[in-house]
Amino acid sequence: MNSLLNVPLSQWPEIIEGLGGEAYRAAQLIDWIFKKRVFSFKKMSNISQKVREGLEKNYSIRSLMLSGAEESKVDGTTRYFFKTEDGHDVSCVYLPFEHRRSLCLSTQAGCAWGCVFCASGQVKFQRNLTPSEMIDQVFFIEEIVGKPLDSLLFMGMGEPLANYNALVDTLNMVRSPLGLGFGARHVTVSTSGLVPQIEMLAESAPKVNLAISLHAANDPLRKTLLPKSSAWSIKEVLNAAKTYSKKTGATVTFEYVLLGGVNDSEQDAKRLANLIRGLARYGDYWVNLIAYNPVPGLPYVKPEADKVDLFKSILTVRQVPVRVRKPQGVDIGAGCGQLGEAR
Ligand code: SAH
Ligand code: SF4
Repeated sequence: MNSLLNVPLSQWPEIIEGLGGEAYRAAQLIDWIFKKRVFSFKKMSNISQKVREGLEKNYSIRSLMLSGAEESKVDGTTRYFFKTEDGHDVSCVYLPFEHRRSLCLSTQAGCAWGCVFCASGQVKFQRNLTPSEMIDQVFFIEEIVGKPLDSLLFMGMGEPLANYNALVDTLNMVRSPLGLGFGARHVTVSTSGLVPQIEMLAESAPKVNLAISLHAANDPLRKTLLPKSSAWSIKEVLNAAKTYSKKTGATVTFEYVLLGGVNDSEQDAKRLANLIRGLARYGDYWVNLIAYNPVPGLPYVKPEADKVDLFKSILTVRQVPVRVRKPQGVDIGAGCGQLGEAR
């Protein structure tokens, strides 16, 4: 059955009116679901019986079934496995840090973008996830952990911007103070660089931080690593990043997976620094270096530790703000880019 969460919040008043209730009851309905976490229309006692029955007949609320979990022995990172109603696998990764709790959630079943170093890119694209399936990952984890999450990362399986409309509806629910109420700085969408959608997001979506997967500092190399996303040149991607930060004032992070011997040389670092340092006057930019996490069957290797340090320092001396992402959940295959087929 179709989840009510697949209808944008702005249309809920009309739905209630259509069922013979008063439009303002939409706020109560939203409160039951997002604040009280009551997922049965029957229990929503301040909504008239007629409306409750109408909702019950036409809509569901939850849409995933939890099918398993695996926790890292190293850092407590936990990968959760779900099934959609039509049998697709979905997973998300809970990241407990010392002072905050994050969730890395998936936006598609499979991924059609085929980046050569990524486990998700090896999983055949099946379909986009619905807003309800994205929000349900949050509902499940907050219920299991028993505490609210501090931040959401749209960085699991799939290319969020290739599922644009559902993503924007989801972000509206995530950001709305009536909905999940996450602040702009606590939500990050990661994209392999879909330029038209980055520009659309800058105009029409609730403000969120953007992470752009760059991974190469020249177009020919980027084409070998991101065969589809390199349809847009690095220059076009950087221009879209500028537009995004000018319009939203949000932070833009460039993600750079370091693949040993492929894109981790001093020259790569210098080129990357030259590309990014000119951007500082347009907004807040960071480079996030991610050492390659092994994916079974792929020919890549982790960069040597001193190469990562050198790469970082080349950016730092050129005044490009840079961080090295701490690997999380790698022992259970839940690190960045490791979300392949469910086992
Ligand atoms: N499709 C989006 C979001 C999901 S991938 C995107 O590509 O940005 C999340 C991040 O993990 C991306 O930066 C991606 O490039 C990175 N990643 C993919 N495979 C990886 C691997 N094997 N090791 C480390 N990071 C990887
Ligand atoms: Fe898809 Fe992102 Fe993986 Fe590329 S890196 S295959 S876009 S999930």
